[in-house]
Amino acid sequence: MAELDIENLTFRYEDMVMSFTLRVESGEMLAIIGPSGAGKSTLLSLIAGFDRPESGRVRIDGRDVTGLSPAARPVTTLFQDHNLFAHLDAAANVGLGIHPGLRLTAADRERVYHALKQVGLDGLERRLPGQLSGGERQRVALARSLVRNRPILLLDEPFAALGPALRREMLDLVDEMRKARGLTVLLVSHHPEDARYAAARTAFVHAGKILAVDETSRLLAGESAPELRAYLGELESGEAP
Ligand code: ADP
Ligand code: MG
Repeated sequence: MAELDIENLTFRYEDMVMSFTLRVESGEMLAIIGPSGAGKSTLLSLIAGFDRPESGRVRIDGRDVTGLSPAARPVTTLFQDHNLFAHLDAAANVGLGIHPGLRLTAADRERVYHALKQVGLDGLERRLPGQLSGGERQRVALARSLVRNRPILLLDEPFAALGPALRREMLDLVDEMRKARGLTVLLVSHHPEDARYAAARTAFVHAGKILAVDETSRLLAGESAPELRAYLGELESGEAP
C-alpha cells in the first residue's frame, strides 16, 4: 500500500511549462485523461523518476523520493509498447523484473511462473514475443510489473492498441491485482470509457496542468472546466484526441 503526494512538481520542455499537484490515495485506481501533448506521460515520468523536476516534491507514504533514481523508487511503469525483448521468451521477459541479469533462484523462477499464471498465460512461458498476440504481450509485460513487487503501478496507455473487449479484460486483470496486492494505480488513457469502467476518480490534464480531478462520472459530465468540455466534445465527434 502506498499513498502518492505530488506537490507543485514543475518541468519545462522548451517553452512548455508543466506544473502538477495531485494526491492519490493508497490502493486507489486513478484515471488520467487529456489531449495528446497535454503532459500525461511527463507526469508519470516525473513520478517514476525518468524525468527530473525543476522544483516540487514527490512523496510516497510521506517519504520524499524526488532525489531517488527510478530503480530506487517503489514504482513500476507499463508503457504502450517497447516493454519486451524480442529475443527472450515470456518467462525470461518476466524474470527481468526480478533480476536484470536473469540470475534467478528456483524461488524466483517459481514467482515468474506464478505471475504468468495470474495473468492467464499458463503454458505460454517458452513463447517469444513474436509468437504472442498483442494482448498476450501486454499480459507478459504486466506480469513483469507484478514480480517487481512495487506498490505503485503507472500505466501509460498500455492497452491503447487493443480493441474495447480486450481492453476491458486487461482493466479487469489490473483491478484484480490492485485489490489482491493493494496497489496504487495511475491509468493514462485516451478512452474516457476506460476511466468510467475502471477508476473511481479521474484527473483531467491540459496544457501541463491538472485542471480537474473528481469522481469519474462527475468529471466526465464535463462541468468543471471549458477545456474538459471541449476535449470530451472532440472525442465524441470522432476528432483526434
Ligand atoms: P501526453 O502524454 O499527454 O501526450 P507528453 O507528456 O508526452 O504528453 O508531452 C507533453 C509535452 O512535452 C509535449 O509538448 C511534448 O512534445 C513535450 N515533451 C516532453 N518531453 C519530451 C521529450 N523528451 N521529447 C520530445 N518532447 C517532449
Ligand atoms: Mg503520452
